[in-house]
Amino acid sequence: MGDETPWFKETLYPAVAQSFAMDRVLFRERSAHQDLVIFENAIYGRVLALDGAVQVTTRDEFVYHEMMTHVPILAHGKAKRVLIVGGGDGGILRETLRHKSVASVTMVEIDRAVVDMCLKWMPSIAGKSFADKRTRLVIADGAKYVAETAEKFDVVIVDSTDPQGPGEVLFTEAFYRNCKRVLKPKGILVNQNGVPFLQGDEMTMTYRRRRKHFAHTSFYVAAVPSYYGGFMALGWASDDPKAHRVPEATLAKRFAAAKLKTRYYTPGLHAGCFGLPAFAQARVK
Ligand code: SAM
Repeated sequence: MGDETPWFKETLYPAVAQSFAMDRVLFRERSAHQDLVIFENAIYGRVLALDGAVQVTTRDEFVYHEMMTHVPILAHGKAKRVLIVGGGDGGILRETLRHKSVASVTMVEIDRAVVDMCLKWMPSIAGKSFADKRTRLVIADGAKYVAETAEKFDVVIVDSTDPQGPGEVLFTEAFYRNCKRVLKPKGILVNQNGVPFLQGDEMTMTYRRRRKHFAHTSFYVAAVPSYYGGFMALGWASDDPKAHRVPEATLAKRFAAAKLKTRYYTPGLHAGCFGLPAFAQARVK
């Protein structure tokens, strides 16, 4: 990295920003939906950013993908059919397919370019997941898909961009209402819900919109280094009020039975991750 190395400056917030040296720009394009860049950085490996916001890095993607996937699937206990909205890099898909009990995964991603470019420049994330016979990739707007599909799912994982651009519709009450519609009884919805320390309003907004349609809505947390501003909140919604309080011993049994090798998720962390710090809890109202 020399002083002529260009830097990627994240443009999520008006008054603070994180920057990454772009040691090598591998791909940059304005797709039909968003501005897409993939570059190499000495610390984070390969980094994908969409519309100026870091989405995924090969160095720390395991944190977010394990927590967005294993928490709902192991809490559910009998998930067979999973819907992923967004998730174009394939990380959630990869982690979902590791559950042999899952019979089918439908992934609805609006931008084919994200799938194609991540497969080409960040192949370690998806691996062979898109070729798995259980995978069904649908290139469409996730909001439209859940409004129209007749399919039903045990778990819905919304791995979206932030509520701007194409991702905005995935934070609306209509979207949550339709997620409820496509969930089977005891179904669980989880979603990317930003960093409470800097995006606390998004917690309050999505909590109010989801609670109209689910008996139990809350959040759990994970520390994702490349999501600037402290731990990240992951939204949770289910009509089963016990689903977010499965005893650690039960989670440990399910985790062992699933034969998962993880680098962040543990049954103990799962049992504790719904405990929010007071300032974040104050946003859930
Ligand atoms: N883990 C990242 C995060 O937490 O910000 C998100 C990663 S993933 C790349 C986000 C995906 O959401 C992108 O591939 C984007 O194209 C997709 N997306 C945005 N709006 C969408 C919509 N309305 N329907 C389906 N996919 C959408």
